[in-house]
Amino acid sequence: MAEEATTANPVSDCLFCKILAGEVPATVVRETDRTLAFRDINPQAPTHVLVIPKEHHPNAAALAAADPELTAYLLRECGEVARAEGVADSGYRIVFNTGSGAGQTVFHVHAHVLGGRGFGWPPG
Ligand code: IMP
Repeated sequence: MAEEATTANPVSDCLFCKILAGEVPATVVRETDRTLAFRDINPQAPTHVLVIPKEHHPNAAALAAADPELTAYLLRECGEVARAEGVADSGYRIVFNTGSGAGQTVFHVHAHVLGGRGFGWPPG
């Protein structure tokens, strides 16, 4: 992992801060100065990529409150990942589980970019 990936405000017990620091391996598909995109270790679709900001924020609502511009940047990166993965035209899903009641298990905000299969509604 490149040195510059290290988050500016790492949280010591945060798995995704450890990925940013290169302490936990990840399959990186895209990196910018503000975000990192890597494959989910337990994919739920043929394309399942997590897109995270390099700054630690616990969830999407906290990120949006703290830095709306970075929130928009993160969403744009999701679109870039979808294009790079070849799922932009067929349709894809961006998911932010927010809070443990909604299934969030890692409390460093991350967008799931899922594609390559059909999706039902309502979500499970
Ligand atoms: P959440 O449940 O929305 O918080 O999503 C956390 C995601 O992180 C899950 O889809 C996990 O499969 C994924 N995950 C957990 N550990 C790792 C890892 O080390 N590398 C990549 N993905 C991970």
